Amino acid sequence: MNTLKKTALIFMATISISGGASTIVPTSSMAKTRYVYIAPKHGKKYHLAKNCRGLRRAKKIQKKTLKWAKKHGYKMCRLG
Ligand SMILES: [Zn+2]
Repeated sequence: MNTLKKTALIFMATISISGGASTIVPTSSMAKTRYVYIAPKHGKKYHLAKNCRGLRRAKKIQKKTLKWAKKHGYKMCRLG
């Protein structure tokens, strides 16, 4: 009786473990397009925040992809 109960418990636990594992789908592998902000006339820096201090003086701000900015020699702004 006791052994049967124990076996059943292990069986239930195995189902819940395997079931739980199958529902975990890694979503971090999906590359999300990141956008950055640049001020073309104010140096080769890209900014992660639109309201960054480094962009305050810039009159014209352009939104670009991070890939684009890196390709065109832009370096990340240390302020944001
Ligand atoms: Zn900045």
